[in-house]
Amino acid sequence: MKPATDYLEIREGVRALCAEFPAEYFRRVDAERGYPEAFVDALTKAGWLAALVPQAYGGSGLSLAEASVIMEEINRCGGNSGACHGQMYNMGTLVRYGSEAQKSAYLPRIATGALRLQSMGVTEPTTGTDTTRLKTTAVKKGDRYVVNGQKVWISRIQHSDLMILLARTTPLADVKRKADGMSIFLVDLREAIGHGMTVRPIMNMVNHETNELFFDDLEIPAENLIGEEGKGFRYILDGLNAERTLIAAECIGDGYWFIERAAKYANERVVFDRPIGKNQGVQFPIAEAYMEVEAANLMRFRACALFDAHAPCGAEANMAKHLAAKASWEAANVCLQTHGGFGFAAEYDIERKFRETRLYLVAPISTNLILSYVAEHVLGLPRSF
Ligand SMILES: Cc1cc2nc3c(=O)[nH]c(=O)nc-3n(C[C@H](O)[C@H](O)[C@H](O)COP(=O)(O)OP(=O)(O)OC[C@H]3O[C@@H](n4cnc5c(N)ncnc54)[C@H](O)[C@@H]3O)c2cc1C
Repeated sequence: MKPATDYLEIREGVRALCAEFPAEYFRRVDAERGYPEAFVDALTKAGWLAALVPQAYGGSGLSLAEASVIMEEINRCGGNSGACHGQMYNMGTLVRYGSEAQKSAYLPRIATGALRLQSMGVTEPTTGTDTTRLKTTAVKKGDRYVVNGQKVWISRIQHSDLMILLARTTPLADVKRKADGMSIFLVDLREAIGHGMTVRPIMNMVNHETNELFFDDLEIPAENLIGEEGKGFRYILDGLNAERTLIAAECIGDGYWFIERAAKYANERVVFDRPIGKNQGVQFPIAEAYMEVEAANLMRFRACALFDAHAPCGAEANMAKHLAAKASWEAANVCLQTHGGFGFAAEYDIERKFRETRLYLVAPISTNLILSYVAEHVLGLPRSF
């Protein structure tokens, strides 16, 4: 397989950094159920996670295409961007909808990594994907909002200073459209935890730091409201195109990693006096998985191009995420199958990457929700829910 040659300067920079964190490093972090702190620190210090922070606020103001190459390379080198991708895209809401005071207070320190905005609290246990019915409320009392409710699957809380929180500020019964009446807030986790906010980690299939959150009269200063009250759901949706496209790039990175491993092993492993890759039953699935990753990669760059040109890209961002998540999962499966029993051995890293890439078919948005978006918004089919 030919190495990627586009965006070479970025690729080489990220590859050089990743080379300092070889497979053994990620294997150990995974076995310990730890957090790749040294790796994320190195990425932060090198400025890679500030790619999308505008230059005026101390970031590098790169395009989404360039930022996506950073995420792709991390996964392509055998790492997992899931530990740090929030720092790259969560601040998008602040950039687009934050007041000048909020932007100048937070963005420069987010750019240097002095402040980590790694977490976004949207999903709730009882309402799931039906976000507009979420039950967490924020009620204004003087110069504060008082938050009550619960969130689930909120990632990287233990490695974040700030969190973007979506909560209902006007009851569902009192709004014309169900998307109205929700607001987003910047929560300072250092002040919130233990003072109205409780965190319960969730052990899960991937080594992904994620949590249940409980809010019991958590007070947030009113100045931490981002944008206008009641418009939070739209703000969040707006940021999702960048998130979906970056996640697609992570899947593409995983996909190439799996294909490269599968092809190498199929060439080297000799059974019945021949390399297993000589058998079409082994080589065809690898070839097919490669084609799917390549095709998904085109859609990923199409979504990036539209986003960077400030053109509508909801359909392309969703399709890129869907195609790339499917392609990386297929590549993972093929890679595991090609390795036979050895695919299950932790020291080959395949079972780890297999678990990691499976997540993307569910989070941050599940397959069916993307299919229904395309059916309804692109093809004009009737709304099903
Ligand atoms: C490791 C991990 C990390 C996460 N990190 C975060 C985070 O940091 N912040 C955050 O806010 N969330 C996070 N999430 C939550 C994630 O975004 C949700 O799990 C995901 O969007 C699916 O929601 P759900 O789990 O509530 O599934 P549900 O909404 O309960 O859906 C369950 C299944 O039913 C399907 N389904 C539901 N309704 C329909 C329908 N009408 N038609 C067809 N199919 C349907 C879904 O596609 C899904 O397959 C994380 C999740 C995981 C597992």
